[in-house]
Amino acid sequence: MITDIAIIGGGASGLTAAIAAKEADRAAKVTIVEKLPRTGKKIIASGNGKCNLSNLKLSEHNYHGSVNAVDIIEKMPDYTSFFTDYLGVLCVSGSEGREGGIYPRSNSSNTIVNAMRMKIEELGIEEICGCEVKDIICEKDGFTLICNDENIRCKRLIIAAGGYAAPTFGTDGGVMRILKNMGYKTAKICPAVAPLRISPDRLKGLKGVRVKGEISAVSCERILRTERGEMQFNDNNISGICVFNLAYLFSEFEGKLSLKADLLPDMPWNELKSYLENIRKSRGNLSIEELLTGIFVKNLAVYIVKNSIDRPMTDKISTLKNNEISAVANCIKSLEFEVCGCSPWQNAQSTMGGIHSSCVDKNLQSRLHKGMYLCGEILDTAGDCGGYNLQWAWSSGMLAGGSCGKSLKGAGK
Ligand SMILES: Cc1cc2nc3c(=O)[nH]c(=O)nc-3n(C[C@H](O)[C@H](O)[C@H](O)COP(=O)(O)OP(=O)(O)OC[C@H]3O[C@@H](n4cnc5c(N)ncnc54)[C@H](O)[C@@H]3O)c2cc1C
Repeated sequence: MITDIAIIGGGASGLTAAIAAKEADRAAKVTIVEKLPRTGKKIIASGNGKCNLSNLKLSEHNYHGSVNAVDIIEKMPDYTSFFTDYLGVLCVSGSEGREGGIYPRSNSSNTIVNAMRMKIEELGIEEICGCEVKDIICEKDGFTLICNDENIRCKRLIIAAGGYAAPTFGTDGGVMRILKNMGYKTAKICPAVAPLRISPDRLKGLKGVRVKGEISAVSCERILRTERGEMQFNDNNISGICVFNLAYLFSEFEGKLSLKADLLPDMPWNELKSYLENIRKSRGNLSIEELLTGIFVKNLAVYIVKNSIDRPMTDKISTLKNNEISAVANCIKSLEFEVCGCSPWQNAQSTMGGIHSSCVDKNLQSRLHKGMYLCGEILDTAGDCGGYNLQWAWSSGMLAGGSCGKSLKGAGK
């Protein structure tokens, strides 16, 4: 099978790259090669089926890795130009109280995928689904993709095969391994936008507890990043968007990373101590197990007291000494958990690490193989939770696809 431009991967970046390539060279034959039976499956699952496709508040702070994602995003058309003006999808911001997040007005990710699929059909872009690329051979005048059934020859190649996160959506890092064998440098990989693992012993009694607060990633007493939001305690991990946004730090600080939670960030320590001293007066007859039941759900309230005071829980609150009250306040303001691992890939939404920025030029063309372009999650950038990863996928897809189409047109085929 022969085509002009082949795209490996029919996800967010691959579909966008295909559209941009065809728009740049209407005469080119553009073919998407997708391993799964249909394209766009991960987009459908995104944002709990609602597709948080971008974010109004976007800065360098939201991207991690060697690729300068913001620089590329800012150069490309924004979500209104692409989704509303070009694809006809009405978008809104702030759905579900997620400040800054952009969603389709329909509140359904299917709206996005359908609009993209219709554009792909209208432009005459070919899709070969159920076709896994197993290897890439570089030829003098293009590339041969070794696939599970037939091989595909192309003049230009766009790699949009994603990373390792959520392998049920076709992304098991297979193409990243092929590129590594071809000499591409990769940055250290770990799950991003994912829960962080904590020893089950340390979480005993907390399973199912959700609490709003402030959580910091800490290494050797240095605060690396602080997030606010709801954390959720599970058997062997802590999750919640605020934790998801710290997960990428595991790759750099593995073995020396902790999470420190402030469960009452709006109450200064002194105020909290006075509040607890007042409880000692007003609820003095109750057992110390009840000390915090006016502030937190029971399991969390008991957990904090047990972790800060070493005496029978049946003792009376009135018997608490000042240093014990201080210990409880300390625990509430800085409850620390050592991170013992990252979550499995199936629980991750993105990949920290990937093909290093030094392997591509400003148009996302490979520096190692002319005519090959890379976009999306396979490159070394991971965005925060909140629309940042999809925004990178669309923007990098537009750039890689557009540059690829232009270069083919410029070469006069
Ligand atoms: C459950 C979930 C929810 C998410 N929600 C959001 C959200 O709301 N907002 C947000 O910004 N981000 C979200 N993300 C992250 C975001 O979806 C991804 O970062 C983005 O889809 C990456 O796009 P991509 O095109 O680079 O890769 P992918 O979307 O992963 O697409 C890669 C495609 O390549 C195909 N492929 C892989 N290997 C081969 C091969 N060898 N041969 C042929 N095809 C191959 C795969 O089957 C896949 O279809 C979510 C992720 C998950 C898992």
